[in-house]
Amino acid sequence: MSKITRPPIVTILGHVDHGKTSLLDFIRKSSVAAKEHGGITQHIGAYQISLPGTSNLITFIDTPGHAAFEKMRSRGARVADIAVLVVALDDGVMPQTIEAIKHIHEAKVPLIVIINKIDLAGIDIAVQLAKIKKQLSDQKINLEEYGGDVPLVSLSAKTGKGVDKLLEMILLVAELNELKGDAQDAPSGVVIEATLDKFKGPIATILIRNGTLKKGEQILLGGVTGKIRAMLDFNGQAIEEAGPSTPVEILGLTDVPKVGVLLGNELESEKVDEQVSLLDKLKMGERKTLKVIIKADKQGSLEAIQASLDKFNLERKVIDYIFAGIGDIGEENIKLAATVGAIVIGFNVKVVPLAAQLAENEHVLIRTYNIIYELLEDIEEVVNTLLEVGQLEEVLGKANILAEFPFGKNERVAGCRMIEGVIAKGQKIRVVRVGQIIGETKLKFLKKVKEEVNKVEKGNDCGMLFDPAIDFQIGDVVESFRVI
Ligand code: GDP
Repeated sequence: MSKITRPPIVTILGHVDHGKTSLLDFIRKSSVAAKEHGGITQHIGAYQISLPGTSNLITFIDTPGHAAFEKMRSRGARVADIAVLVVALDDGVMPQTIEAIKHIHEAKVPLIVIINKIDLAGIDIAVQLAKIKKQLSDQKINLEEYGGDVPLVSLSAKTGKGVDKLLEMILLVAELNELKGDAQDAPSGVVIEATLDKFKGPIATILIRNGTLKKGEQILLGGVTGKIRAMLDFNGQAIEEAGPSTPVEILGLTDVPKVGVLLGNELESEKVDEQVSLLDKLKMGERKTLKVIIKADKQGSLEAIQASLDKFNLERKVIDYIFAGIGDIGEENIKLAATVGAIVIGFNVKVVPLAAQLAENEHVLIRTYNIIYELLEDIEEVVNTLLEVGQLEEVLGKANILAEFPFGKNERVAGCRMIEGVIAKGQKIRVVRVGQIIGETKLKFLKKVKEEVNKVEKGNDCGMLFDPAIDFQIGDVVESFRVI
């Protein structure tokens, strides 16, 4: 198992029109690797260059303008070893620059800042540079010249002046970060582009992170299988195998995989191992814990959420992470949640329709959020309840008691208006008065006007007869709930 130094994978981020495409084009056109093959004949989502006079390679992720770029921009920073942030000299830091910085910080990738368009006439470069440096430090970018670790290179993607300095800087940063790969390993990588070609069928561009991918190999890409029928490098040349840091286009998949899915990676299998051992622990069932499955849009968010939730585990371990991963909430997450009795938390992700259906059938609680502190507030409440009451409940429906009617000899029916969710026969029911629980009961009957029904939903009026009877008052709230 000999580890070799692998080429750095670089992504270029920045505000629209600041020159990402121009810079990628300039580098590609002036690179030796491209020229050797008689120029670029086609565009795939990444390319590799070698520096003139050296054997040093650099892989660039080249996705601006692509439909999936919005997605890739967040992932790009994660897939990449080094992020290059482009800031145009005339514009300075703009909204998308700030967004890119957020991604870079979250992904914790080494960063190089470049100031582009230094060829522009009529700009006092020194004044403008000073302004941009201040803007950058406001965004918590610690430039080298102020004692930080972020280098800054000024260049022009139009004339090419300073581009060589950027490439040298990339190699320097790569060297400092000791990027290692092992061509003997099983291949791992990420899909950076995928389309359906009318003639060739599904095509995916994979960036190999480690190991070697070979033609003829059977692969799995996030649920899509295939046998590699053909493999092309970024110049469109057929190749037999691709090693660490190489972008390749592959043919032979049964379907179009999603951008961002991983190729047979170690991370996933680590997670599975973790899942299995956690399952063992849970089966022993000695603790009262909140079991959670977290899905988030990106690694950075996932780490931030886990780090924040970990504060609950400081004194007592109350949160058990059953699984934490990237991507939408799918059926497999719900199945796992149902098996172990976990709740599913989503951050900036969707619930796949089939998964939503399954969750309803399996009574799995899903909560999705777009704002981290809302997620944390909710979980805090849940954890506190768990610590106080020793069990967790989910309120399924709420109704206000607006009237009462005598029934039979000495019973009373509560005339209610549903204000939230659903109340159904067979559910656990309780009556709450100003936040205090008056009593727990069940429904003997539930009536809509005169007709007996099995459930009522938000907005409907209904009559409820409690069994056992409860000494309710007008103004009380009826809640249906379940113990998680
Ligand atoms: P992107 O949206 O970040 O990919 O930006 P583009 O590469 O498409 O560039 C936006 C505009 O800026 C285009 O009109 C480019 O020609 C121009 N541009 C890019 N780099 C430079 C540069 O170094 N100097 C000058 N003067 N114009 C540039």
